[in-house]
Amino acid sequence: MKIINDPIQLQQYLKEQNKTIGFVPTMGALHEGHRTLIQNAREQNELVVVSIFVNPTQFLEGEDFDKYPRKDDADKKICELSGVDVLFFPNAQNLYFEDEVKIEAPDVRGYVLEGNTRAGHFSGVLRVVMKLLNIVRPTRAYFGKKDAQQLNLIQQMVKHYFLDIEIVPVDTVRDANGLALSSRNAYLSDKQRQEALKISASLYEAARMIARGENDTAQIKTKMVEILKPLEIGYVAIVNRDFNPVTVAQVGDTIVLVEVVCGTTRLLDNIWL
Ligand code: AMP
Repeated sequence: MKIINDPIQLQQYLKEQNKTIGFVPTMGALHEGHRTLIQNAREQNELVVVSIFVNPTQFLEGEDFDKYPRKDDADKKICELSGVDVLFFPNAQNLYFEDEVKIEAPDVRGYVLEGNTRAGHFSGVLRVVMKLLNIVRPTRAYFGKKDAQQLNLIQQMVKHYFLDIEIVPVDTVRDANGLALSSRNAYLSDKQRQEALKISASLYEAARMIARGENDTAQIKTKMVEILKPLEIGYVAIVNRDFNPVTVAQVGDTIVLVEVVCGTTRLLDNIWL
């Protein structure tokens, strides 16, 4: 496995290979969710590139940028064992410029739900993803459905900026109890991990209600809020695949989303129906 830090060097190297490229951008502290993205990329492309970069521009003032888990050595091993060809390890100095031309998340989808709680977060995400996609120029780029709003905004950006890249959504990987895997789960105490199971429980109940024919999203959300108590709820939302809130759930076009704060840790989860 090749490890490259410099964006220009990576760009040149990949151009010389002249192969199909599957790209998995991450912030490291890799877990089974990331591994699944990598496996998908491995199966569908000749070359697999993974990036690890804890992107400062997507963290707001006072958020966990400094304490975000960094596990470079373990991550390198995971990548090597997963058949990654190139690991891209940039730093903020070689990725960002002073006074640069900025990509900005749109008001409609970029500043609601997660973008409302974390105003400006998605602009930082889109900025770095645009850079990474342009550096790697992948055939396919893999993103988790776990971060549904992020996935939606990236799909929009790829469309609006005419990037010739296939965005491949990947299903959420959970632990045996149903908790969606996340690098931030490392912040949870055993007790909080237990409480956090209410999140997937509320999503599964929403799925059951819809399967039984209940499509009134107000009713579904009320039930979910009951299940989530006493967790601090950021939002419970039901949207369509375009991320517009809906009053009537419809199988094939509905995403149910939850954000809670467990202790001081913000946890996101969702289910696609
Ligand atoms: P992160 O390192 O948290 O920025 O995540 C990197 C990529 O992995 C993103 O596309 C995430 O949506 C995806 N991802 C994170 N957790 C999971 C999970 N539990 N299942 C599937 N994909 C995930």
